Amino acid sequence: MNSKLIDRFGVQDTPFFYYDLNLLQQNVDALKSASSKNNFHVHYAIKANANSRVLELISKSGLGADCVSGNEIRASIESGFTPNKVVFAGVGKSDKEINYALSKDIFCFNCESIQEIEVINELAAKQDKVADIALRLNPNVNAYTHAYITTGLEENKFGINAWELEEVLQVIESCKNINLIGLHFHIGSQITDLKPFKNLCNKINELQQWFLSRNVKIKHINVGGGLGIDYQTPDLHPLPPYEEYFKIFHDFLELQPNQDVHFELGRSITGTMGTLVSQVLYVKKGINTNFLILDAGMTELIRPALYQSYHKIENLSKRHLDDLSREKYDVVGPICESSDCFGKNVVLQQTERGDLIGIRSAGAYGEVMASSYNLRDKAKVLF
Ligand SMILES: *Cc1c(COP(=O)(O)O)cnc(C)c1O
Repeated sequence: MNSKLIDRFGVQDTPFFYYDLNLLQQNVDALKSASSKNNFHVHYAIKANANSRVLELISKSGLGADCVSGNEIRASIESGFTPNKVVFAGVGKSDKEINYALSKDIFCFNCESIQEIEVINELAAKQDKVADIALRLNPNVNAYTHAYITTGLEENKFGINAWELEEVLQVIESCKNINLIGLHFHIGSQITDLKPFKNLCNKINELQQWFLSRNVKIKHINVGGGLGIDYQTPDLHPLPPYEEYFKIFHDFLELQPNQDVHFELGRSITGTMGTLVSQVLYVKKGINTNFLILDAGMTELIRPALYQSYHKIENLSKRHLDDLSREKYDVVGPICESSDCFGKNVVLQQTERGDLIGIRSAGAYGEVMASSYNLRDKAKVLF
């Protein structure tokens, strides 16, 4: 986001999301290059950003789609993803969603409970189909990320736990319209220390031995997503460390002959290309701090309110005025909630009403989590 773009858009239409499609293309190219070396298959996690221009760009690159609802499956197919590269995950798939996915002959259902397998079997029988499934296993690996985005621990609602596996295999055997093709894992999100992925590989190797000992053939391993991005210094690391990330799985996963490896990346693909652009409505003096009151809030970007997450904040109007004095501000939105705060003690050039503020790395879990709370308008997206 540079000052030329501000000239182009003006200030009248704030707040809006700006998506840098050149950066997105560079990201996808880097991802393809790093993954194809290892013959890894990557699905884009639609839930991170489902904007149709974004989906079209990503589908053109040949990536698959990772969906967590029937509407995401529909959006992905409409944007050019081929159904045989669509996986359907989620702890609570409704009958309607399962029926829709069956009718589209998607690649795989990632199943999270015994009852879900039984329901898919029943619905597949009615459509005279056999559903390919993967078991989402809970590897009990700590991702060391925020508690709300940790998913791979036994205490989380996700996945099937190791002690249930014997029973799961019996159920699958009795289900004539179910075909087990994969094992699926996803330990959490915004993982920047890559060690948990190594731990995940070791856990997968152990679990594979268990399946081998029971003579169960597994065609593919899906290791999920979760690769984090650099929210602190997005300009230093506009692209995620894909090479390093894939190398871990190349080095530590013990694969069976002809076994495929699938990934489901969301944030790392679309996170850095997005900036939420907002205008300062008021500068208000508090007791210990100055508030910058923006025209964007948790209705456009809920991550700080929901998981105390950090986004780099910049004064785009004053960005190039390096000699201006600096001040500390609490940067807040207009919504009637005290958690509607983008950052405390943010150091910015002296800021005035009307300045444009950029909230960086808002391309993932921003627009898709927007709400109309306070009857707010939906923010536009500019490219
Ligand atoms: C959310 C999710 C992903 C993507 O996570 P990122 O952190 O955005 O990469 C992948 N797989 C599953 C099952 C998910 O729920």
